[in-house]
Amino acid sequence: MKIERVEIIPLERSLDREFVGGTYKIISRNTIVTRIYTDVGVVGEAFGGDEDRLQAPIVNLVRQHLAPLLIGEDGRNVERLWEKMFHSNVDLGNRALHVLDLNHRAILMQAIAAVDNALWDALGKYYQVPLYKLLGGYRDRLPVIAIGGYYYKGDPNHHALQEEALSYKEMGLAGLKLKVGRATLEEDIARTQAVREATGEEFIIACDANQAWEAQQAIQFCRLVEPLNIRWMEEPVRWYDQLDGLRQVSQATSIPVVAGQGEITRFGCRDLVLHGGVRILNVDVTIAGGITEWRRIAGMASTLNVQMAHHEEAQIAMHLLASVPHGLYVEIFPHPERDPLWRELPRHHPLIRDGHIHLPDRPGLGIELDPLVIERYRSD
Ligand SMILES: [Mg+2]
Repeated sequence: MKIERVEIIPLERSLDREFVGGTYKIISRNTIVTRIYTDVGVVGEAFGGDEDRLQAPIVNLVRQHLAPLLIGEDGRNVERLWEKMFHSNVDLGNRALHVLDLNHRAILMQAIAAVDNALWDALGKYYQVPLYKLLGGYRDRLPVIAIGGYYYKGDPNHHALQEEALSYKEMGLAGLKLKVGRATLEEDIARTQAVREATGEEFIIACDANQAWEAQQAIQFCRLVEPLNIRWMEEPVRWYDQLDGLRQVSQATSIPVVAGQGEITRFGCRDLVLHGGVRILNVDVTIAGGITEWRRIAGMASTLNVQMAHHEEAQIAMHLLASVPHGLYVEIFPHPERDPLWRELPRHHPLIRDGHIHLPDRPGLGIELDPLVIERYRSD
C-alpha cells in the first residue's frame, strides 16, 4: 500500500454562541482533515484537533515537511513512518525545534498526529476491519459522558445547570463532565451538589477545572466534594505546577486525579504518572502524536495501574478506548451548538443508547466525511 499523496485541510466553523469554562471561552470549532491516498485505491481519512492559532503552521508543516517524507513509503508501516516523522529535522528557517521554541514542539506533534491518525484509518480500510478491532477489540461499546455544565450568566439557584444535566441523563448518557474553577470554591461546590441532587446517585459526575487552581485550592475543593461521589478531578492545578502540584492534590484526596490532555509525548505522560500521581491519563490523540503514540502511552499506563481516558474527539477516542482493557468513557458535546462539526462532518454517527456508544462496524474509523461540509468550512 504505497503512499502517493497526502492532503491536509484546515476547517473553521464559528459557533452560534460562546461557551465559558474554568479558564477560557470557546467561540469557534476548528479542526483538520487529513487524507492519505495510496496506490491500491485506499484513502485514509481522519479529522481531529481544535487548534485556532497554531492551525496554519500545523498544516504547513505537514505540506512542506512531513508529506515528502511519506511519499512512496508503504502505508502499513505505521511505526516506521512515525519514527521517520518524529526524528526528522524540521527546517523552520530562522531557529528550529530548540528548547526555547515551545510552540514548535506542539506544532510538530499535532502535525504527526494528523498524519498518523489518517494512516491508521487507511490501515483499517486496507484490512477491511474497524479500527478498534485492528487495535485489539477489547469491547464493542463504551459508556459515554457529556462534556457540559459550562457557566451560565445569571443562574443563581443552578436550575438551568440542573436541567441541562437532567437532559443528558434523559438523552441516554451515562454522566457529565462538569466545568469548575471559574467561580468561588463555595459556588463551584454548590454547582456540583446541584448536579448530584438533580441526577441521582448512579449518574457519573466528573469535575474539570481546566488548570484553574493553586494546589491548596484544589485540595480544598476535592475534600469538600468527596461525599458527592465524584468520578475524577481533571486538571486541578495551574500549568506551571503540573508535577508537584498534581502530586499534592492526588495525595490529599480519594478522588482520582486526571491529566494528560496538555501533554504531547509519552515521556511527559510518564512523568505525570510517576511524579504527579495522576491515576487516569486523558491524552488527546490529535495533540500528542496520534494513535501510534497513544497506544504506547496506554501500554505504559497498564503497567502502572493507570486508566486511560481521552480528551474530546470521540470519532477516534471511541476506537482507542474500546481497544484496551483499561479504557474508560468516551466524551461528547451533546449541546448541538458546542461542536457542530461532530454532527455535520461525518456521514455516519455511532449509535448512543442506554449510556453507551456502540462502535461502528465499517472499516477504519468508520465515519466517512462529507466533502461538501469540508468545502464549506475550509479556511485556507
Ligand atoms: Mg479537560
